[in-house]
Amino acid sequence: MTLKKNFIAGEWIDGQGGIANINPSDTSDLIAEYAQAGPAQLEDAVQAARQAFPAWSTGSIQARSEILDRIGQAILDRRAELGALLAREEGKTLPEAIGEVARAGQIFKYFAGEVLQLRGELQPSVRPGLDVSVTREPLGVIGLITPWNFPIAIPAWKIAPALAYGNCVVFKPAELVPGSAHALAEIIVEAGVPAGVFNLVMGPGRVVGDALVNHPQVDAISFTGSQNTGRNIAAAATARMAKIQLEMGGKNPLVVLDDADLNTAVECAVNGAFFSTGQRCTASSRLIVTAGMHDRFVEAVSERMKQLVVDHALKDGTHIGPVVDERQLNQDLDYIRIGSEEGAHLLCGGERIERETPGFFLTPALFTETHSEMRINREEIFGPVASVIRADDYDHALALANDTVFGLSAGIVTQSLKHATHFKRFSQAGMVMVNVPTAGVDYHVPFGGRKGSSYGAREQGSYAREFYTTVKTAYTLA
Ligand code: ADP
Repeated sequence: MTLKKNFIAGEWIDGQGGIANINPSDTSDLIAEYAQAGPAQLEDAVQAARQAFPAWSTGSIQARSEILDRIGQAILDRRAELGALLAREEGKTLPEAIGEVARAGQIFKYFAGEVLQLRGELQPSVRPGLDVSVTREPLGVIGLITPWNFPIAIPAWKIAPALAYGNCVVFKPAELVPGSAHALAEIIVEAGVPAGVFNLVMGPGRVVGDALVNHPQVDAISFTGSQNTGRNIAAAATARMAKIQLEMGGKNPLVVLDDADLNTAVECAVNGAFFSTGQRCTASSRLIVTAGMHDRFVEAVSERMKQLVVDHALKDGTHIGPVVDERQLNQDLDYIRIGSEEGAHLLCGGERIERETPGFFLTPALFTETHSEMRINREEIFGPVASVIRADDYDHALALANDTVFGLSAGIVTQSLKHATHFKRFSQAGMVMVNVPTAGVDYHVPFGGRKGSSYGAREQGSYAREFYTTVKTAYTLA
């Protein structure tokens, strides 16, 4: 079994041992072993990034743009192969995985263009004879910490803007999915990024991640992951005045009103709640349905759920792949038990099932007769589990939708312009969807939430510059 290495200061480096990357669709399938970095290697990576920063940040933006374009093109050219690797290590279906890879490629292409779009402002001073310019500069060394559920898209939407705006990067991917991160690193290296500008350090969050967050020479941290880890990172990083950006999941509502088109409502619910095995921070885990639609909706969703094939992620015809690992499967099963104990009715699914290959297969679960106070409606489960909450009318549905500590994405299915418009205005989420699933967003517009879901500047699109640059105001007496 080959050992895949870390990339530090322009070299592929062994770690302190390696970990196995196991296929959740077939636990007998070992993908490869991945070197685990320790504190010394993290230190080397930060130092390499620091040394590379002056030249990279002041070098040719044409060269930077071309490198990002080459990375994007290579990802797009290799989307089938990278998609297969991603599906194999994370468990989303092959079409979902190829879609994610394509998105990563498009993100690099987008930021190849964005490099050339950075502009400042020149304005007169209030003092005669003075000019004032406002420009943006890179931050320095940025630590990027990513989760397992989007093993290539999330790294792409952090690495691409970081490099585009002239920063150097130390990237720590999630332990469960080093394969896509490593393949992406190979592509970045082949595209000609100078030594030290990009560094890959694989390893445990509590060792490598923690050292990155606390390193005095890391200027900023962009993190996507759980709320608990996000909170700890915020405390540590802000204590030393580092800039932070945190994306931490959701408990996203999909409101279905009496006047909704039933097919649209069912497709939005099933896609949003169960596709990608429900392992998306934008998944619709709360289906809030008004009284006149409730029974028809529940019946149609449960009928549709019977058609969903749960199986090996790489098998033709699979709609829902496995849960990512045993720990997450046990968490999902725990919440299913908790929901039943709280008095919710488990209408269908929620069972661990066997397939030809040994894997973590769970049938999608739908709870009905649930209330907003139940833990299954308050805590992020991060699996193929959704609850139906009955609402009296639109106003009640809106109040229920906002009754959460999270605020990432929120959807409504309705044919009423009045209610759709009101919902867009009064939903307390960072992203609002009308007649489309809560998950599935474009790559060129801001992504992010409010309340407990997000902290700091938005990610993606031109809004990414808020995080990855700092503003300078300069005065000139002519
Ligand atoms: P999950 O429970 O979904 O794995 P986490 O928030 O634990 O979510 O993980 C998201 C990312 O944060 C992973 O790359 C993980 O290694 C990293 N991480 C975990 N703990 C820490 C920590 N204490 N400091 C920095 N990074 C961490």
